[in-house]
Amino acid sequence: MILIKGGTVVLGQTVSQQDLLIQGEHVADLGALTGNKADLVIDASGLLVLPGAIDTHVHFNDVFMNTISVHDYYTGTLAAAHGGVTSIIDFSNQIPGESLTATIKNKKGEAEGKALVDWGIHPVITQPTPEILEEIPLIVKEGAPTIKCYMTYRSEELMVEDKDLKLILECLRKAGGMLMVHAEDNDIIEENISRVIKSGQTKPIYHAKSRPPEAENKAIRRCIQLVRETGGRLFIVHMASDDAIALVSKARAEGLDVFAETCTHYLLFTEKILERDDGLKWICSPPLRDRRIQEKLWTGLKDGRISMVSSDDAAYSWEAKLYGTESFDKCPNGIPGVEPRLNLLYSEGVVKGRFSLPRLVELVSTTPALLFGLTPQKGSLLPGSDADIVLFDPKVKWRMNQQTLHMATDWSAYDIEVSGKIEKVFSRGELIIDGGRCLAQKGRGQYLHRKLDLSIQASI
Ligand SMILES: [Zn+2]
Repeated sequence: MILIKGGTVVLGQTVSQQDLLIQGEHVADLGALTGNKADLVIDASGLLVLPGAIDTHVHFNDVFMNTISVHDYYTGTLAAAHGGVTSIIDFSNQIPGESLTATIKNKKGEAEGKALVDWGIHPVITQPTPEILEEIPLIVKEGAPTIKCYMTYRSEELMVEDKDLKLILECLRKAGGMLMVHAEDNDIIEENISRVIKSGQTKPIYHAKSRPPEAENKAIRRCIQLVRETGGRLFIVHMASDDAIALVSKARAEGLDVFAETCTHYLLFTEKILERDDGLKWICSPPLRDRRIQEKLWTGLKDGRISMVSSDDAAYSWEAKLYGTESFDKCPNGIPGVEPRLNLLYSEGVVKGRFSLPRLVELVSTTPALLFGLTPQKGSLLPGSDADIVLFDPKVKWRMNQQTLHMATDWSAYDIEVSGKIEKVFSRGELIIDGGRCLAQKGRGQYLHRKLDLSIQASI
């Protein structure tokens, strides 16, 4: 048994000084406790005690735009652990001609002997054949009830047409699953890209110019309409448009089960940074937006119209990002970010008064657990839940950059002074990060067999 003594525990909306007892893999007790029976007592005075963060949006071993992500299940979960992330859910693209069962099997193979923290899978449908649709109930039963589709990236052979999205939504509704969409209108984007490139506008900023918020809004309007027709459940990934916030909250007011997240980089950067000489670093889709939209995203997180924040970790090497040197459209879209999310949201969100500490915990842990079928195992420090715990020192200030982060890329999008630092991380009762050192054994991470709670509705 481990007793974490005197820390400031965040439990729901309550922030209070409490002791926390870990027994085996679980939280056993909370309150004013004595260390009599504990094998180890950790003095947590002055530290925040938070549930481990959950990142439901990472791309490990992702093959995309002529490259592959440098985060595999070892390097990716190592960076996650350092960032206080004790559960990740990774996307698994259907390989053309192969089944969804095969993609899950492949991912289990990739994780075997490597994962340091717990991990789950979202299968990605790229070819919605009748056989694939028939597989959906099976996949839901396999513990992967959240399936993603792309409404763009036709040239990468990832795009799914609306008529197929509708069929997938219907199958998922019947099976108790949820559709996740990358919502950007492919026609708008393709037309813009070819126009700007023809006129010689090939610098990174034109990536953003060719994917305006209207492209997002149009796609989101279309998929909300599909939910209206099917009664299915929809999750919009990496939302980065203020009009889209209004579309989602209007859909929820109608009683539709439509949820949305945004990602760390939309909150930290604006499109202006794409004008720098190293602007390729910040090419991601949807692109970074202007300051006005960024402020709206912060507000949407505070007032609940945006449910959560993920990282959209897509870690491509600098060599691969340089494919975009001649023209932005060759640069693999993505920013490595599985590690810094919790710390950045504390520093830029809580410290700067944009939202409260309990809201931070909801955004990175409790709500991801609720929406993605991990409650009550994950996302809270209530007795009985997994002892996934972060001890966070709010007083430390440090510089977050390529040297101080642990992600596997040879570059970093982040070079910023931050407040607060992760001191210790426990995963299922095991101390895996201690003062910046990783103690976890490769392969200790477990597959997260998830089941959605369909009673969770638009109230989140
Ligand atoms: Zn993504």
